[in-house]
Amino acid sequence: MPDHTYESSVIYQPARIHAASIYCSDGRVGEQFDDFLQNGLNLPRYDRVALPGGPACLAGHPQVHLEEKGVVDELDFLVRVHGLERLVLIAHDNCAFYTERLELRDRRLELVQRADLVRAAAYARRVTGLDLVQGFFARRVGERIRFEPVEV
Ligand SMILES: [Zn+2]
Repeated sequence: MPDHTYESSVIYQPARIHAASIYCSDGRVGEQFDDFLQNGLNLPRYDRVALPGGPACLAGHPQVHLEEKGVVDELDFLVRVHGLERLVLIAHDNCAFYTERLELRDRRLELVQRADLVRAAAYARRVTGLDLVQGFFARRVGERIRFEPVEV
């Protein structure tokens, strides 16, 4: 048990934004993902679905079959209970999920990630019925992360 409590100074706002994002849980890019979604796409309070590799789990890789089922269940929940209308998929370069679990490297890595965004978007549309699904590739440029749209 902690011996003190902490109260966030961020004001709670109950209204839902009806948008969610699926992205990698890598904490080194978490704040940049938040910044992009909240300020770049103007989606404050978006629902987060964070797991290693992010949208890779919807791209049909057998290594992530269990994760796929969990995320599909979660998307179904978000559509029914949170009134989800918009879904943003983000892949990021040098993602350890791809380099370690799928053992991909270098040029081939980004090609597979971009193809996975297309596959994941099609799958997400099919299982949720959503039309508005967007894809982005987060690229590290020096100390910054740049978010590039991907046609999905
Ligand atoms: Zn990652």
